[in-house]
Amino acid sequence: EDDPVDAGLIRDALAGPEAGLFHVEWVTRLADALDRLETEDFDVVLLDLTLPDGQGIEAFDRVFRATTDSLILVLSATSDEETARRAVQLGAHDYLAKEHADAYWLPRALRYVTERKSTERVLRAAEETLFAEKERARVMLESIGDAVLATDLQGNVIYLNPVAEEMTGWSREEALGRTLAEVFNIIDGTTREIASNPALRAIEQDQTVGLAMDCILIRRDGVETAIEDSAAPIHDQDGKVSGAVIVFHDGSQSRAITDKMAYMAQHDVLTGLPNRLLLTERLDQMIVLAERHHKQLALLFLDLDNFKDINDALGHQIGDLLLQSVAGRLKGCVRASDTVCRQGGDEFVILLSEIEQPHDASRIAEMLRASLAVPHFIEGHEIHVNLSIGISLYPRDGESVETLMQNADLAMFHAKANGRDRHQFFRSEMNSRALDRMFIEGGLRRALKQEEFLLHYQPQVDLDSGAMIGAEVLIRWQHPERGLTYPAYFIGIAEACGLIVPIGQWMLREVVRQVQAWLDAGLCAVPVSVNISAMEFRNERFPEELALLLEETGLAPSYLELEVTESYLMQDSAASERTLAAIRGMGVRLAIDDFGTGYSSLSYLKRFPFDTLKIDQSFMQDIIPGEDDTTLISAVIGIGKTLRQRVIAEGVETQEQLAFLRTRHCSVGQGFLFSHPLPAEDFARLLAGRDDPLSRRLPQPPSHARPAWHFTG
Ligand code: C2E
Ligand code: MG
Ligand code: MG
Repeated sequence: EDDPVDAGLIRDALAGPEAGLFHVEWVTRLADALDRLETEDFDVVLLDLTLPDGQGIEAFDRVFRATTDSLILVLSATSDEETARRAVQLGAHDYLAKEHADAYWLPRALRYVTERKSTERVLRAAEETLFAEKERARVMLESIGDAVLATDLQGNVIYLNPVAEEMTGWSREEALGRTLAEVFNIIDGTTREIASNPALRAIEQDQTVGLAMDCILIRRDGVETAIEDSAAPIHDQDGKVSGAVIVFHDGSQSRAITDKMAYMAQHDVLTGLPNRLLLTERLDQMIVLAERHHKQLALLFLDLDNFKDINDALGHQIGDLLLQSVAGRLKGCVRASDTVCRQGGDEFVILLSEIEQPHDASRIAEMLRASLAVPHFIEGHEIHVNLSIGISLYPRDGESVETLMQNADLAMFHAKANGRDRHQFFRSEMNSRALDRMFIEGGLRRALKQEEFLLHYQPQVDLDSGAMIGAEVLIRWQHPERGLTYPAYFIGIAEACGLIVPIGQWMLREVVRQVQAWLDAGLCAVPVSVNISAMEFRNERFPEELALLLEETGLAPSYLELEVTESYLMQDSAASERTLAAIRGMGVRLAIDDFGTGYSSLSYLKRFPFDTLKIDQSFMQDIIPGEDDTTLISAVIGIGKTLRQRVIAEGVETQEQLAFLRTRHCSVGQGFLFSHPLPAEDFARLLAGRDDPLSRRLPQPPSHARPAWHFTG
């Protein structure tokens, strides 16, 4: 109020008997009023609509917007009642003509508006609580797994939650107001008579009632479900029954089946372990947790090294039992918070949720390997399995499920390529190696088609006489860009992708053809030994195909020796025993290659029909001039001798090594000292120096033949 006279009147009007009720503050400008309203709460604003800095509805509007809780009482001049009325329409609580703002009217008007205000406040608070409660109830009802249906006193439907909608087949909109019997159509499962209305019973008895046993709900579309549960009366404020609520759920097996299906979708049937789907889900959650708590995770990709052999040899049933046994052992090695999952086939993945450092993961990897290494006894078979493990770590090796899985898988592949039966951490270079691998694989396919492979022959020399008594065939790849390429570059990959099989077929055929060609050309050919990888032997038709090849070319089997590595023998399966026996039975000789690098026990060696034992070239480094500590190689030579096998020392490079081997009576040597592996033409020249009429007449090279090529170093 800018007019001091009017302001004085108002002050006086409020100074009557009720003066104690009012605390009055007076400002003369709109701007001051707005300032005060901003910092303090007032119950009532008495507003004159003709102020120096604000007039009419505009002035009201600004005050209205500046107040949150205060009531506005407009004081109007008689001349301008119209504006005051308009202000009331826009939100003012009342208006009062200035001439009525006297000691009678003004306090009354103020009391009236403040009372109204406090009532409003109480109402609003009550409304809010009610709303919150209702909301809470609504959310609860909508989200519980049971069906909930409510009726009024007459038994008409007033509420259905979503589960009830689904089970009755009635949507809430359609069901509201209908009779319970219509929406909740239940019959007795045995008599198929209409079952009594549980809501009405609950209302009548004013107590909770159970549904009759064996109750069937007929959904709107006729589908029947066995249901269980109860009805209870609802009471109003005065405690009188106002309706009923029925809670029911699917009691039939269909629920159990749904649960089972959900379980099956996430678990592997054979082992009961979580499957890939569940693992992905858990890994996802674990990543979120690990991120929040700055923790590490480890993902282990496991692959059994020789499962396929076992499966082939002993049958799928035993294979399945073995997988179950493996699953049990894996689970036994980890904590309950870790996840062991079967990825499929013989692949398992383990998620370690609590590791402090990479070492924890490798420790567990070794525990897993040790646990699997204990033989599995299954239906009378003693089965040995080895494990290759690839490990990726969160966050070091990836922050997403896909990257972690991919990198653990890649690391596993490298564990295999590095000789299996080990664990391997992911390293970032592996990704580029994976690319290399694809590149090499493509190259190998082309090489096969375009015949880019060739064979080199490395002489094997009798250490007593210096005569060449055989040769090992070694494959080479005449690479269009790399030039002459050695097996280290591609054999591992050829094995991993299966291309070793067609490559091996090509090379056996080529060797047999070549030796026969030398014989046909009148050369005194020597027996050649060919490296065969485990994968080629797995083919059960291998012996048969070999026999056919020899028959076709007419080459005597004794010209051929096959080299097998120890690791193949370790895959102790009846199949390999059969295959080897068949080959030996044909008259083709067998050699154990790289002897001493694996774990062959003597019992294995005795069991298989080997003719030759090739001591791995790494042993040659043991032979140091002047030093006597050569126990290992001496022992290996000794083993060969006791088994009465021919012992060939590989990788003989120096005179010292040769001299040593002679003192230990090692019979044969092979190595750069005698000759590097040679192209066929060069090797033929060596053979040409040899002239033995006997060997031309007989297909078998006699042991006493006088060799043409002599080592005379
Ligand atoms: P391996 O069967 O142990 O072959 C012996 C390897 O030692 C050959 O390497 C040979 O060139 C090399 N070598 C011979 N003398 C010496 C020596 O005095 N010192 C040294 N340091 N090394 C010597 P290469 O030709 O690179 O072959 C490597 C491996 O690749 C072979 O080892 C064999 O396991 C595999 N391989 C070669 N050709 C074939 C094949 O046609 N099929 C299959 N499956 N594997 C093959
Ligand atoms: Mg070899
Ligand atoms: Mg070797």
